Amino acid sequence: MFPRAKLYRGLIVFCFCLLACGAVSGQSPTPGIQPLTAMPSVVQVPPEAQPSPNFNPETATNAYLAQIPAAARARSDAYFEGGYWMILWDFLYGAIVLLLLLNLGWSAAMRTGAERVTRFKPVHTIVYWAQYLLLTSILGFPLSVYEDYFREHKYGLATQTFGPWMGDQLKGLAVNLVLGGILAMLLFGIVRKLQRTWWIWASVVTLCFMIVVVLIAPVYIVPIFNKVTRLDDPKVTQPILSLARANGISAHDVFEIDASRQSTRMSANVSGFGNTMRITLNDNLLRRGSPEEIQAVMGHEMGHYVLHHIYKDILFFGVVIVIFFALLHWALDWSLHRWGEKWKIRGIGDTAVLPLVVLLASIFGFVATPIMNTHSRTTEGEADMYGLNASRQPDGFAQGAIHLGEYRKMNPGPVEEFIFYDHPSGRNRIYAAMRWKAENLPLMRWQASREGEPRPALADKK
Ligand SMILES: [Zn+2]
Repeated sequence: MFPRAKLYRGLIVFCFCLLACGAVSGQSPTPGIQPLTAMPSVVQVPPEAQPSPNFNPETATNAYLAQIPAAARARSDAYFEGGYWMILWDFLYGAIVLLLLLNLGWSAAMRTGAERVTRFKPVHTIVYWAQYLLLTSILGFPLSVYEDYFREHKYGLATQTFGPWMGDQLKGLAVNLVLGGILAMLLFGIVRKLQRTWWIWASVVTLCFMIVVVLIAPVYIVPIFNKVTRLDDPKVTQPILSLARANGISAHDVFEIDASRQSTRMSANVSGFGNTMRITLNDNLLRRGSPEEIQAVMGHEMGHYVLHHIYKDILFFGVVIVIFFALLHWALDWSLHRWGEKWKIRGIGDTAVLPLVVLLASIFGFVATPIMNTHSRTTEGEADMYGLNASRQPDGFAQGAIHLGEYRKMNPGPVEEFIFYDHPSGRNRIYAAMRWKAENLPLMRWQASREGEPRPALADKK
């Protein structure tokens, strides 16, 4: 939903991590047309997954997975496994760009240029940041246009033509110019004033900055890219608000976002906190999800809220940020001692040091990928459990997991899942739903008996 953080957004990448918590995503081709490689939109409850005395979660999970056409699975595996390589290429390409900036003296030249504009130091930082952002965006463009435009189109996940896509990139650049400029100004101010303890105060300021961005994003940043409207169809909102009330969530409105402007992925999220907390469904989910699936997704999102995941994320990122700045403090001294003169960097308070800071941040981020993913995957698993108990829609969950499987490999190995997955894999999500169903068989059979015969299929999509 939010354009992916790229290398040139290094300093503010942390802030957007929290925004990227989409729940269930998938791909919907042109309405009415189902290419062979797409996942089935309305998933039948397979006979093996019907409530019966012989119900077995493993067999039910395999029966669900067997509904995925081989071509669809091959395509999503290829897309997702290609993503592993993209992490490496992004890292290496970014490192080369940053090393060029340092070794060719471009960073020092931008600093000297900024000093000619004014004697006022905070303005130096802003002018340097604008030059840095522009230059790294241009140098990084070949990879970002491949990764975010051509590759997304190749797998049928993108809906934008080149013009509007480029428009969104420029908007993203403007947001980064303002937010990144403010953060850079604050951090360099701290480094210049507090030479010995700067890394502690920089951690505090970065964390506070992140919290502010998360707070204002739903109201001030998301609308720059998408239109968010209040949903007023009671057929959709009433079951969601009823589920919210039953779980002690005082939401009065449900919002819809026109994510189909950029992408075919389904998603929903709970964003903001305190008074800015809101539940948002994207239009792809509303158009393609069955009522059971929407309830399952909403139960998951409510889980994030009730389990205080936003506050836990802030705590987690707080720890990560302190560790990062402590390592940065040490690594900057070490590298400047060796190469500072060659790169014409006068010290850590010199804005010309920025490419080195971003390079060290990207090494840190690259190494920390499995830890960040494991944190995210763990909270997503918790939200799944909460969502199953709240919505009581294990088959809706299975359908959601299959939709998500359109761009995520369904059945990875355990090491692969540990390193690369920020949500539990589709197979594990279906298995968790079927295990829940096995433990709640009397309830499921009672529900089925109330509807007459056991449900042959999930309700038709709207
Ligand atoms: Zn989630």
